[in-house]
Formats: sequence, C-alpha cells, structure tokens
Amino acid sequence: MHQVPLLINGQMQPSATSQFIDVTNPANNQVIAQTPCATEQEIEQAVSSAQQAFESWRNVPVTERARVMMRYQALLKEHQRDIAEILAKETGKTFDDAMGDVWRGIEVVEQAMNVPSLMMGETVENVARNIDTYSNTQPLGVCVGITPFNFPAMIPLWMFPLAVACGNTFILKPSEQDPMTPMRLAELFKEAGAPDGVLNIIHGGKEQVEPLLTHPTIKAVSFVGSVPVGQHIYRTATANMKRAQCFAGAKNHTVIMPDANKEHVLNNLVGASVGAAGQRCMAISVAVFVGEAQEWIPELAERIAKVKPGLWDNKEAAFGPLISPAAKQRVLKLIQSGKDQGATCLVDGSEFTLEGYEEGNWVGPTVFSDVTADMDIYQQEIFGPVLCTMGADSLEDALTLVNDNPYGNGTSIFTNSGAAARKYQREVEVGQVGINVPIPVPLPFFSFTGWKNSFYGDLHAYGKQGIRFYTETKTITSRWLENDIPGGPNMTISLS
Ligand code: NAD
Repeated sequence: MHQVPLLINGQMQPSATSQFIDVTNPANNQVIAQTPCATEQEIEQAVSSAQQAFESWRNVPVTERARVMMRYQALLKEHQRDIAEILAKETGKTFDDAMGDVWRGIEVVEQAMNVPSLMMGETVENVARNIDTYSNTQPLGVCVGITPFNFPAMIPLWMFPLAVACGNTFILKPSEQDPMTPMRLAELFKEAGAPDGVLNIIHGGKEQVEPLLTHPTIKAVSFVGSVPVGQHIYRTATANMKRAQCFAGAKNHTVIMPDANKEHVLNNLVGASVGAAGQRCMAISVAVFVGEAQEWIPELAERIAKVKPGLWDNKEAAFGPLISPAAKQRVLKLIQSGKDQGATCLVDGSEFTLEGYEEGNWVGPTVFSDVTADMDIYQQEIFGPVLCTMGADSLEDALTLVNDNPYGNGTSIFTNSGAAARKYQREVEVGQVGINVPIPVPLPFFSFTGWKNSFYGDLHAYGKQGIRFYTETKTITSRWLENDIPGGPNMTISLS
C-alpha cells in the first residue's frame, strides 16, 4: 500500500507514525493509499526547516524568486495532464474538470511570476525639507496553509507560490482525503528550483493542524474549508497573535429575472449547480426565479435530470461521485429532510448508483422546488449535486432573501436590464457577483473575496490582497544633508 510521504527540508520521507488515514477511490471506496498522521517531532522538524530556509530565502533577489515561479509555471503546464490524472483518481472528478482544477492553480503561479512589480513599495520625495519617505514590503517568515479536499491542486496553489514568491517559507497541511495531488505539485516545485525547506508538507488531520496554530515561529495561517473549522482556526491563530485568512462554506444564490435569456440561463445553471457533484464552494445551490421566470423551473429540472454521473475517465460523464461515504450520507440525509419538510423533489438522485460501482459514493442530480427559507436544505450547505429552486415576486424580495442568508461567498444575476444588474451588484451583501456569469470566480490579478460566514479575516486570497497578506510594510523616513548640520534640538513632533 502506497504511504504518502512527508516533505521536510527538501526530502520526501516516510512518516514514523503508526497512525494512517485511508485514501480511497470515491467511485468504489477501494483503498488506494494511506495518509500518515505526522508525529509531533516531524511537525517540529518541518517548522525548524522552514525557519532555517527563511534566513537564506528572504535574501534571494526577488527576480530570482520570480524565475523559480516561471520555471514552475512551465513545469505545471507540461505536467498538467499527469497531475489531473492523479487528482481525478483520488477525488473522482472527471478528467476535464481535474484539468480545470490544475489550470486555475497555474493562473495563480502566473500571478506570482509578477512578484517584483507586485511587491513594489511607495515613495514620496521631500515630505519635509531634505526628507524622503518610502515604504518597502518584506516577507513575514514561516507561513502555514491548511487546505480542503475539493480543489487539491488549485487551493494549495492559491497559497504557497505567492507566499514563497514574496520571500516567505511555507508549511502545507493538505486534506487527508486527497494528499497525492499536492505531493506531485511539491515534486515539481522542487524541480523548478525551490531550495530545500522553502516548502514543507505535513499530513494528517486536526491533531496535526493544532500545533501549527500555536507555534511561536509561525507568522500567518491561510485556511480553506468548512465554517466550524474555519472559525476555530481563525480564533486560535489570531489568539496566538498570527495573521489569519480563513475561507469557509457557502450557499450561493443565483437570481433569474424574467427578462433574461432563457436558453443562456438554463444552460448555465445545469453546470453551475451539479458540476463537480456540487462540491465547489462557488457552486450555485439556490436558484431564485423572479416573477414569470418561475415558469422555467420544470424545464430546468428536465435538463438537470438528463445529466449523468460517471467515472473520471468516461468522457460522457458530467460529474463523479462524492468524496466519501460520510459526505454521501450527509447529502442523502439532507435530501430526505427536504422531502419531509415539504419541498417538492422534481429530480431525485438519492437512489442513483453506477453499475459495477455500487460501493461508491454516488448521488445523482437532484432538484427541489417549493423550497422555503426555514428548511434544512436551504439553511445548510449541502455540498452535493442538489439545487434548491425558489420563487420571488420582485428583485427586492430576491435581494432580501440573499442578504438574509448568513453566507456571502458568491452570487449571480441573470438579466438583460442594466438597471436591475446594477441594483443587484450594489446592494447584494456577497463578496463575488456574476452578471450573466453563473460562477464568478475572479482571476488571480483580482482577489477571491468571500464575505460574511464565507470568510474570516481582512486580506483575501491572491491578487494584491494576497501579496499584502504575505508581506509586512516597512516605512522609511530619511534625511541626507548636503550642508552643515543645523544647530539645536527639535523638541516638537513635526518634521522640518
Ligand atoms: P474541512 O473543514 O473538513 O477540512 C479542511 C481542512 O481542515 C483539512 O485539511 C482538514 O484536515 C482540516 N481540519 C478538519 N477538521 C479540523 C479541525 N477540527 N481542526 C483543524 N483542522 C481541521 O473541509 P473539507 O470537507 O475538506 O472541504 C469542504 C468545505 O470547504 C466546504 O464547506 C466548502 O464550502 C469549503 N470551501 C470553501 C472555499 C472558499 O473559498 N470559501 C473553497 C473550497 C472549499
């Protein structure tokens, strides 16, 4: 059985632990590898290796650090297919979707290649007589990333390339459910020229995260995952005086106005709701049809009913299984609650299974109508291929519904009215808004800006905010005198 190694001080090494977590093929739940739960000593070694590497890495010229990113980008592109295959096998995602997962990460590496201009400070000459003020950005030190199962390439790549390009060193604790993709990313990072200790990887679960949140050497923590874990990590990291950014769960609404292009709406909603089996933090899980647009719900359900799950290497498959039996049980329980609480199940995927793969975590596409805001299927993040459809009398009513929801990751509106789109974009209390675009994930020169219970912290992922998160600003005020030093002490606070 393949035991996933740790990466400490540039060495891929087996863990000395006796505790392992099985990595399974979600299509049939056969064990394909084992994730070690790193020992306390190994975690300490990872921290000291990262601290030691920081002392030299911080002094490597920013242009050289950028060139490591250029080589890394080229290697990721060259190996995109083999990374995607590893990813598809351990997550169950379709191959094309796995390629997309890797690609969205490569785009962040491309942003990290621009680090010299992104790290530029500011200057004002002659702020007082003979005095100039300028600011520099400097790395923080050892940073930590804790990542979820659902994007095992993209989300680690949101974090360590940018942190490392800024001159930091990094410890990644990937999801225990699909650790082989991040290990392949790390092999290529080493091949690109990242020195030993600049990126370290430790594996495991909660017990392996805890010491990182309290360790005095660690300066910043990036987390992506569920709400309760995000809240715990944000509280613990900040209580231990660390900078933290925690991206958490979601319940993303799309609002469909009756003047929208129906064909465009229906085509987009199919993929945005059940694509990747709904295991995307930006998946559309609630579709709010305004006024006459409610008449489109049966046709949307018909289209979603035709979507067929399947194996990762089946070109016809629209999406794969859920990640684990526990995830499947949670989704089935929520589907049942929807039926029990009075929603109409227009498409029921709870009985779906794939022939020959009956042991897998399969759930078929599911669509509810007559959903109300008090139902569990509305209140909870389902993280499965389940779409809740609702009706609203007006744009105002739809806005109230969306703004009353505690999550604020992403939302979208479909309309041909500029006025409606503008009102929605200005008034909605959600951090990422699509206008006739169902899943508005910003490219990496912007930032990934969830709000409310979908994000805890100030500075978001990638873009300018990502650079600010991984750097500290130092402001220098200098005076160089051409003539004799003027006499007498200055007893005031003013610069003159
Ligand atoms: P999760 O919270 O269970 O796990 C995320 C990471 O935290 C894993 O590495 C896990 O080992 C670790 N962890 C789990 N319990 C912990 C604990 N008690 N203390 C410390 N660490 C712990 O999340 P998941 O199931 O892997 O991912 C799905 C969730 O991630 C969904 O809620 C989804 O919305 C969210 N997500 C959010 C975004 C975003 O950008 N907002 C992106 C992707 C996924």
